[in-house]
Amino acid sequence: MTLERLEEARRAFLSDLEQAGGDAGAVEEVRIRYAGRRSGMLQELTAVLKTLPNEEKRDYGRELNDLKKLIEEKLKEASGGASAGTAGRRRAAIDVTLPGRRPRRGAQHPVHLVRRRIEAIFLSMGYSVEDGPEIEDDWHNFEALNIPPDHPARDDQDTFYFTDGHVLRTHTSPVQARVMERQQPPIRIIVPGRVYRRDSDLRHSPMFHQIEGLLVDEGITFGHLKATLETFLHQLFVGVDIRFRPSYFPFTEPSAEVDISCIFCNGSGCGVCSRSGWIEILGSGMVDPRVFERVGVDPERYTGFAFGLGIDRVAMLLYGIPDLRLMFSGDQRLTRQFA
Ligand SMILES: [Zn+2]
Repeated sequence: MTLERLEEARRAFLSDLEQAGGDAGAVEEVRIRYAGRRSGMLQELTAVLKTLPNEEKRDYGRELNDLKKLIEEKLKEASGGASAGTAGRRRAAIDVTLPGRRPRRGAQHPVHLVRRRIEAIFLSMGYSVEDGPEIEDDWHNFEALNIPPDHPARDDQDTFYFTDGHVLRTHTSPVQARVMERQQPPIRIIVPGRVYRRDSDLRHSPMFHQIEGLLVDEGITFGHLKATLETFLHQLFVGVDIRFRPSYFPFTEPSAEVDISCIFCNGSGCGVCSRSGWIEILGSGMVDPRVFERVGVDPERYTGFAFGLGIDRVAMLLYGIPDLRLMFSGDQRLTRQFA
């Protein structure tokens, strides 16, 4: 019976293919034996078709087609596996005595490194890290911080405004207001984050990073402020002198700016410190009672201090980066140095 020949051929093919395993040469032999164009088994079986009486042709033809498909598919599968096997052998043949290719390692951005360092210092003093929105409303960015509508800090030159009156926060201080609104003292927080001002040159970028600190409790004095900032700065810049200068900020009273002795010339005067021997590093002061009133903290009972500094500026000083804009250019030649 002719259909039985097809079934026989199918079984023989499958068993031969299984014996070939994944070996490319053996699979190729099987292909020639069954599907070869000149003398393959399929060729022979197709030739049989012509000799059959018409009534048998239809069934035989259908079965033959199925067999062809099966052989094609199985060979394809087997040769795919076989070529992967060959590639495997090729890989194994790689000369292991050649020097390796070093994988490129990522690096943390200098701003991130400095931020983590500052955070670690304040976490060790019992502060917690707070976060807030970068798109702020007028109240939190200005009003609550005692910055009246006619204050120069609101100048269009400095602030990015949205058409609905919101702003890109110009400092991290609005987070102070938000925390005091929802939480009664004692409060001991630092707030690192991005801030925005319309400014761009060697030392200014429209987006830069600040870190802000706030401590509020009963009986907090300027002495606490001084001791805290001295402890902090001595850990960040080892071996520097520190001085406090009276200053003005709308949200603190009294206010002080803090300088460190120049880390490049040790105070003798150089280009970085403009020959003064000192580098201005942060602003600070005792929280103005009017700010407490606005955010619902009792100024008769509580006092506190706040401070803020530019993370980018510290990174520039610590790592000797000459241009602030370099840090935000995405140039990997800069960041790779920190791997
Ligand atoms: Zn100097």
